[in-house]
Amino acid sequence: MFRLSNLIKSVVENKKERSLNGNIAIWNLTNRCNLLCLHCYSKASLDSKDTLTTQIIKNTIDNFEKSDIKFIIFSGGEPLVRKDIFEIATYAKERNIITYLSTNGLYINPSNAKKIVDTFDYIGISIDGDETTHDHFRALKGSYQKSLKAIKLIQDSGGRVGIRFTLTKKTIHSLEHIFKLSELHDISKVYISHLVYSGRGEDNLNIDLDQTQRKKAVKFIIDKAFSYYETNSNIEIVTGNMEQDAIVFLDIFSKKYPHLKDIMYKKLLNWGGNSAGRKLVNIDSQGFIKPDPFFPKAIGNILEDDFSKFWNSKENKLLNRLREHPRKILGKCSQCRYIEICNGGSRSRAYSIYHNIWAQDPSCYLSEEEIKSDKNFAYSSNIF
Ligand code: SF4
Repeated sequence: MFRLSNLIKSVVENKKERSLNGNIAIWNLTNRCNLLCLHCYSKASLDSKDTLTTQIIKNTIDNFEKSDIKFIIFSGGEPLVRKDIFEIATYAKERNIITYLSTNGLYINPSNAKKIVDTFDYIGISIDGDETTHDHFRALKGSYQKSLKAIKLIQDSGGRVGIRFTLTKKTIHSLEHIFKLSELHDISKVYISHLVYSGRGEDNLNIDLDQTQRKKAVKFIIDKAFSYYETNSNIEIVTGNMEQDAIVFLDIFSKKYPHLKDIMYKKLLNWGGNSAGRKLVNIDSQGFIKPDPFFPKAIGNILEDDFSKFWNSKENKLLNRLREHPRKILGKCSQCRYIEICNGGSRSRAYSIYHNIWAQDPSCYLSEEEIKSDKNFAYSSNIF
């Protein structure tokens, strides 16, 4: 996750960055889902069966302390289809773990909204464009209005809620709509995810942006973050699954605040780019432990042994290599002057396209010239 609004504020105002001291687990508790979204990395559907019992999940949460897991994002499928979701998240909260819910919002209603707010520290609800775009992308007519209603219910119950948006050829024209929606409804966080090639995201590879579209979209998002900061808006922008965004961000930041360039550079080095297998772990609905939710290989399974035995292992070759910083990545990354910031991007996309986990990220949109020289990035954002 690249928290650009937070970074601008912390560096320009010389404030301590709001950051989590500990590791993050994204837990796909179920593969059941009431929607059939085009990009779904889990290929979730209503027919799936749950594998993990409440007790196994609780035992694993008990074990998290040994692995410094301080933060769980409950995801799916649709996590609210599990009847024990509140029991599980409350159990985590009682152990001082910060709980996030990632949901399509369709099961949020007036009778459970307060309970959701009391159980989760933050609720991310997916909105993938304007009404027509969202309903098509999520394969259900009426889902846009329901998700929007869910946001309102959470807000009215006093919860922290934000939009989750996936950037694809099918949704890019709605990027501006998403920001307008946040402004109109006072939604304080917009998380924009780039596509990763896993599950239906891999089946529908043709919906991914080309490099020209991606450059323009990224520039548009970064410009928006600066404009929100400069106008004292409280809307926070975060991007995901594209650590390369940090490099374009650094370029734009350096032009706006040349005297703070070195401080921002150090902050980005400290952030360190792709964190799969370092600070980020995924447990899927069958108990497999993976470096991130899209990863093509697992490092173990919680049904076989304690989570911490796998995660804390010093012998696991995959984890050891992922934990090198910067990672040794082939292709253009091996010559990139920004590898310490980006860390080579997504290993899952590399594997999907090149069948080699250590190949360059095929979605890296920086040119050879840009990754080798101190050249300015002259991207235009006038496409929407
Ligand atoms: S070349 Fe590799 S390290 Fe450099 S920005 Fe692209 S993905 Fe990141």
